[in-house]
Amino acid sequence: MYKRRKVLFFGSNLILEFLKGKNNFLKLKIDLHIHTNNSDSTGSVEEILERAELRGLDGIAITDHNTMEGVEEAKKKKTTLIVIPGEEIRTKQGEILSLGIRNYIEDNLELLEVLKRIHVQGGLAIIPHPTVPFFNRVRLRDLEDLPIDGIEIFSAITPFANFFLKRNIRLARNLGLASIAGSDSHFPETVGDAFTIVDSESRNIKDILNAIKECKTEIFGKSSEIKYKLRLIYRLFLKIY
Ligand SMILES: [Zn+2]
Repeated sequence: MYKRRKVLFFGSNLILEFLKGKNNFLKLKIDLHIHTNNSDSTGSVEEILERAELRGLDGIAITDHNTMEGVEEAKKKKTTLIVIPGEEIRTKQGEILSLGIRNYIEDNLELLEVLKRIHVQGGLAIIPHPTVPFFNRVRLRDLEDLPIDGIEIFSAITPFANFFLKRNIRLARNLGLASIAGSDSHFPETVGDAFTIVDSESRNIKDILNAIKECKTEIFGKSSEIKYKLRLIYRLFLKIY
């Protein structure tokens, strides 16, 4: 079995740090799953950054399908936000959300190869929306043996997000993995509907990734409005990319 540190319960690692007197964390509010119009969102990078600032986020992760053009675009924009580079990668065995990678990873590779490429780049591999039926997902029974770093336990745009939350909390807990939340935004209006509070030592991306890996996270947010969920299903059905 893939060795992981066990999480006793949510926030337990934070309490341990507190007892050790290390409680000078920043509590950064970050939406860790956002698409731009470089893949299948209606929102430009500019609109998304603007919306994220308006919603009081400290940062976002740009995680387009099959491209990192949105990340490159964001780097050229003037913003106070932390922008974590990422990609949502389709593998032969399901989708993986990568955070903190530097170079684009292509689609349709073997899952283990993708996980290796993410980790070689110093990134994190997160399982997005793990229990939602019909989504292109990695088999739950395989998760225990995989070198993954976290579970997206709340994804605001997925249907019945609140219903799946309980199952996902159990899953992350049993696997001893970090819990994260994101909007999985495909429309600028839904940016920040869900987010993760990361207890990071600094605003540096490396520190943020380390904090996530060490389970120093809490999740917040609400399910996106039903009109956006329906619009996404319609767009996916028509394959509007
Ligand atoms: Zn997504």
